[in-house]
Order: sequence, then C-alpha cells, then structure tokens
Amino acid sequence: MASPYRELKERSWAANQEIPRRGLAIYTFGNASALDADRGVIAIKPSGVAYDGLAVDDMVVLDLEGKIVEGKLRPSSDTATHLVLYRSFKGVGGVVHTHSTYATGWAQARAPIPIYGTTHADHLAEDVPCTAVMSDGAVERDYEVETGRQILQCFSDRDPLHTPMVLVAGHGPFTWGKTVEQAVYNAAVLEELAKIAFVTRTLDPSAARLPGSLIHKHFERKHGKRAYYGQE
Ligand SMILES: [Zn+2]
Repeated sequence: MASPYRELKERSWAANQEIPRRGLAIYTFGNASALDADRGVIAIKPSGVAYDGLAVDDMVVLDLEGKIVEGKLRPSSDTATHLVLYRSFKGVGGVVHTHSTYATGWAQARAPIPIYGTTHADHLAEDVPCTAVMSDGAVERDYEVETGRQILQCFSDRDPLHTPMVLVAGHGPFTWGKTVEQAVYNAAVLEELAKIAFVTRTLDPSAARLPGSLIHKHFERKHGKRAYYGQE
C-alpha cells in the first residue's frame, strides 16, 4: 500500500537535495523538514546519511512530539529543534538548518547581519537576528530542545513569518517558511545576504545601515499588503 506520507517525504527529500545543490552544505551537514499540518507530522532527513545516497523512503516521518510514525532510520540529530519551531511558530511549514559558510561565519562572530542594502530589505526588514550564546546548563540539559528555545527567546517580539531566519550563536543558521520550498529558498538567500554583508563590512568597517525609508519601500513592495513585485 502506498504511504499516506509519500508526497510529504518527496517534498522534504527534494528540499534536502537543494541544500548541497545550492552549495549550502558538504557531506551530511544540514537538514530540511516539511510539515503536513493536517496530519500533524513532519518528514525529516535521517541522521548522518549523505545527500548523494539519500532516497525518498529514507525520510523519517514523526509526529510533533517526536514519535516516529514511518521510517526505518534514525531522524536527524537536530529534529528536536525543528519540532520546537513547528510547535511555536504558527504558519511555518518547513524548516532548514545548514552550516553554510558565510552565515555560519556571522553566527560564530555572534553578530547579527546588518541590513546594509536593498537585496537584504527585499527579504526581511531588519538585521538577521543572532541568538544569545547557550549557557553551560542548557547544553547539559537537552541540547537540541534548548537550541529551539534560544531561537524562541530571540523571537519573543518578532514575527517569524516576516523574519524567516536566525543565526544561532557559535553554531549556524536556521531558516523556515510557509513551505519547505520557501524554507530552503530562505537558506540560500540568507547565505547570499551574509556574503554580501561580509564584503560590505570588509570594504568599509563602518558602513551604514540602509535608511528606514528604503528598507520599508523594498520590504513592502514584495511582502506588504499592496505588494507589486513579480507577476500576478
Ligand atoms: Zn548544526
């Protein structure tokens, strides 16, 4: 009998393949998951399996409490972080984690990525936020859950659908979206923003942020109520 989760697994698999294709990870680094909100399950990459050998049926399906519903392999070691985000960020349908070079560089510098230009403002209207560094106590408790909590703390007064990305200090980026396709797109966008910001800061360490009027203009024309970017 065909799995009721086949389409979900296919979409999750395709998003995972997009991670190395966009140069966002080597070997087994990184993972993507997709949510089926009606069924209350996610499909995520199995732990430690390289992208080359990854098959659709290797994807692991779990409920939002982390119980495996379908799949023979162990799920990604970051699964608990994904689940914290799904349980807390309403409307999010996909989560991606990578160790992409420039975004991870900023995360290791423990620095938000300044909104220097319109490329950035086309996607989010503020600096890419960076979490606090995890305490020793939190590392000892439940590391992956605590990683999710760090992100939630950082988003206590942010809209996750307006700012669909974060740097986890000392670790790397997490991105998300209404769909897993958007989440992996945001992972690629974040890496590009991180790279451009690095070049900007290298050329001028005191480079100014984009003025608020330009941030507003660029963000709103793509994401505002009267958006007019692209085709109908
Ligand atoms: Zn990681």
